[in-house]
Amino acid sequence: MDLLNTLVDKGLRRELPTRDEALAVLATSDDDLLDVVAAAGKVRRHWFGRRVKLNYLVNLKSGLCPEDCSYCSQRLGADTGILKYTWLKPDEASKAAAAGLAGGAKRVCLVASGRGPTDRDVDRVSDTIKTIKEENEGVEVCACLGLLSDGQAERLRGAGADAYNHNLNTSEATYGDITKTHTYADRVDTVRKAHAAGLSACSGLIAGMGETDEDLVDVVFALRDLDTDSVPVNFLIPFEGTPLAKEWNLTPQRCLRILAMVRFVRPDAEVRIAGGRELHLRTLQPLALHLANSIFLGDYLTSEGQAGKADLEMIADAGFEVETTEQVTLPEHRRGGGCGSVCGSDEACGSEDTALPAAEAQVPEARTDLVAVRRRGAGTDVAPNA
Ligand code: SF4
Repeated sequence: MDLLNTLVDKGLRRELPTRDEALAVLATSDDDLLDVVAAAGKVRRHWFGRRVKLNYLVNLKSGLCPEDCSYCSQRLGADTGILKYTWLKPDEASKAAAAGLAGGAKRVCLVASGRGPTDRDVDRVSDTIKTIKEENEGVEVCACLGLLSDGQAERLRGAGADAYNHNLNTSEATYGDITKTHTYADRVDTVRKAHAAGLSACSGLIAGMGETDEDLVDVVFALRDLDTDSVPVNFLIPFEGTPLAKEWNLTPQRCLRILAMVRFVRPDAEVRIAGGRELHLRTLQPLALHLANSIFLGDYLTSEGQAGKADLEMIADAGFEVETTEQVTLPEHRRGGGCGSVCGSDEACGSEDTALPAAEAQVPEARTDLVAVRRRGAGTDVAPNA
């Protein structure tokens, strides 16, 4: 298939596909799905081998958020039944992190609900980062605290944070439909602040919110322009009690196409399957490892994932290996604040007639039976899933 050969060649050269090529990946038929996975898998293996990086979420502060992000179970006034608690103490967070690290994770993601941290919150999280780093040699720490004010990224970097996550979530054109209390530009600004402070920028998207293929391509191209190192791809968990509770738009096949498109557009970035993995990919999760080189181990912020042991077994059974702390995730040109710049130019890669048959219409099922509110780990007295 010309399209896939072209995309593999470009991916190996870190050359940006055209928008039409990215859209064509999303429009492939189920008959072509394994070819799409195989092609994107070549790009994944070229840059990341068969390694799978495990990340572990620690929800430092859950619920009680004043923002109105319509996909979020922690949003203002949401009646989702999630755990609600205020800041974990450094030793509580470190204990939660240690469970994930013992389970095989190499990065800990410290997340707090809210619009953004106060300077006092940054002090608090800095203490937590220092505690985790002291107690766990070689651990990578990513902070995810919302919109950053001037100087806060530098302070987190000074405390030992390696990365900062702030997702763009969707295209600029549709951002105002999902959130009213802050803007897409606010989010871009925070990603830029993190990058400028020397933090590895992590920013991704949420698929399944009713967006078009064009929206998905727009947000992934925007992440390419921001040159983020990591791209978490969330598949919407339609929580009862949120405005998007009825948005069951995804099939496992659609999720694979989205991940393949992200891999072709971000060939050398850490593509991470994030929330909604078990829910939407279901039994096709192992195929997705051929596209993404990173997943979350165990539970998510407010919902349960499959058992950490099942994650490890899936990786081994699919012929992949868990990345160790001795192995460096990113290709050499991206390390140490590398430019990660793109070879070739978009203009040089003219759009070709690469249209493939449109994806066959499928009616996704509402699998509410697979959504379980997290009741263990951080913020509880129950053992964590790791
Ligand atoms: S995504 Fe973050 S800012 Fe938005 S409602 Fe949820 S916790 Fe608040």
